[in-house]
Amino acid sequence: MIVTLKEAENATPMRNASFMAAEEYRSLFENATCGIYRDRVDGTPVRCNPALVKFNGYSSEAEYRESVSHSEVSWYVAPNRGAQFHQMMKTEGCVKDFVSEVYRHRTREKVWITENAWYVRDHNGVPIYIEGTIQDASERISTIAIIEQQANLDALTGLASRRRFLNTLEAKIKEEQSRFTVYSIDLDRFKPINDIYGHATGDLVLQTLARKLQGLLREGDLVARLGGDEFAILQSNEVSKAGVTDLAMKIVEEMRTPLWVQGHHLLVGSSVGIATFPAQGTDAAALLGNADLALYKAKKSGGNSFCLFNAELRSGLQRRLNVEEELKSAVSQNQLELYYQPIVASATGAIQGYEALMRWHHPIRGLLPPSEFIQIAEDTGLMAELGNWAIKCACQHAAALPPEIRISVNVSASQFRSASILEVLRSSLDETGLDPRRLVLEITESVILANEAIADTIHGDLRAMGVLLALDDFGTGYSSLSYLQRFKFDEVKIDRSFVNGMAEIPANLAIVRAIIGIGQDLGINIVAEGVETKLQADKLIAGGCTLLQGYLYGKPKPYSEAVNDLGLQRLRVHEAVKLGEQSRRAVTG
Ligand code: C2E
Ligand code: CA
Ligand code: CA
Repeated sequence: MIVTLKEAENATPMRNASFMAAEEYRSLFENATCGIYRDRVDGTPVRCNPALVKFNGYSSEAEYRESVSHSEVSWYVAPNRGAQFHQMMKTEGCVKDFVSEVYRHRTREKVWITENAWYVRDHNGVPIYIEGTIQDASERISTIAIIEQQANLDALTGLASRRRFLNTLEAKIKEEQSRFTVYSIDLDRFKPINDIYGHATGDLVLQTLARKLQGLLREGDLVARLGGDEFAILQSNEVSKAGVTDLAMKIVEEMRTPLWVQGHHLLVGSSVGIATFPAQGTDAAALLGNADLALYKAKKSGGNSFCLFNAELRSGLQRRLNVEEELKSAVSQNQLELYYQPIVASATGAIQGYEALMRWHHPIRGLLPPSEFIQIAEDTGLMAELGNWAIKCACQHAAALPPEIRISVNVSASQFRSASILEVLRSSLDETGLDPRRLVLEITESVILANEAIADTIHGDLRAMGVLLALDDFGTGYSSLSYLQRFKFDEVKIDRSFVNGMAEIPANLAIVRAIIGIGQDLGINIVAEGVETKLQADKLIAGGCTLLQGYLYGKPKPYSEAVNDLGLQRLRVHEAVKLGEQSRRAVTG
């Protein structure tokens, strides 16, 4: 406590004893060799002792106060150090042995110091001042102490490090009657930002989001960067569903707000998994593990969402592990099949090609769509095998179809990662004698993004081979337009989500029309996916869309049924032509 002389002088004679005490404190204050200060919580200096005045290169307290109050320059050398100081004050109410490099105010000479600080609170417990001491630590500080301190901090964002987070978590768990919640946060779409705009931009994004997370916390909470684009929050004294949901929603909202960074308009997002102590884990590993499981679930649901841990998540994970195991033998056991969905020419309604879509005849669960296994195959490194099988199978089927019919096959990112896709394509085309221009490879942007570095080369090889390329799910990704230009796609598939709401949402119709326009300009085919109603089809045809695909024209079917349909259609066309000739003859004859 520092009592100013003026306060002491104002004391009544009755309080002579306290005046004496004040005098003693004053002497300590004036003569101490370490710097002592009292600031307002906003940092405005209130008092400081001669040692601190001298330390900063001034000759009087008034001069010091004047200069510091009007100074904009930072006192800490490390850019995040001030924020770290205030975060620690906020969460712990004090700062102990805080080692930093600072500038002496007047001379801007650098020096290492140790700081201790604490709040002075009013009778309601609200902080009104920060008081503290400052000691020159240049000689005393060993490198080890500095390293120790750094290890508790994340250098990039200034948040707590993984280590500090785990230590705090362990300490909390040991506290009796502790109740708190752990949030595991993972950014969505961060990797493409790093890949496209570079690491400097990526770093700025992480710093900005770190500040935003920090801004959501109450006193006593802790936010850490665990590494990469992973963060974690420890929320003290909150385990109620309403309270937890409230913070989770704020995190998701805050993280999905668009950012302007270095002139780029960026959309990140986050997935959040949540576990509470002690109900959902009684040690750090269990808690974080369960929060991560919930996070995984949130990610799978498409991101920008949160999930509270529950016991069913565990059994879901078990099921997934089983699928992984069973999928390994799916190809060798002939459990996979390609279904075919027609793509029709909008002008004539004639089938122009088919998209091959994978199905899995699971020995127990029956026929499974790709949503049940493709992602798992991707995650576990099995996709290359499945994808290569699909290419081989589709080429064989295509070769047996009439020559005007094309077959489209989906290729995923991991297939490009292993160069085997080129070999498989070459051998499949060789063996079946299929004209490469009858094979369309459907590629999503994520394929290109995941392989930025090799995309051009692979693309070159594919082009040389003569196969056609379609950009799949157009409109759902990042900068599709630039890809259209760079890679010269033969075909663009408008994502189902646009076609879907086209009749109801005017913006969707506008987007679809714009895509069709671009396609016409570039001279490439536009396929509209997911056409389900006549109304949608009419609008697409009126807009100039050349190819249509969707339940309106046929669901995906086994090869034999698709062949049948095609035969029937050709028969109908043949009949129609014959009928037409007969009626013409009747008219002219
Ligand atoms: P995709 O490439 O966008 O394929 C179109 C999906 O939309 C198919 O789902 C198809 O059945 C569905 N669909 C078509 N028309 C309509 C419609 O009118 N309404 C509705 N609601 N849906 C329609 P499916 O077969 O479940 O495939 C899902 C995704 O799985 C595919 O999306 C593709 O990304 C992936 N996939 C399928 N087969 C393969 C494959 O062999 N290799 C790879 N890498 N991915 C595949
Ligand atoms: Ca597709
Ligand atoms: Ca698609």
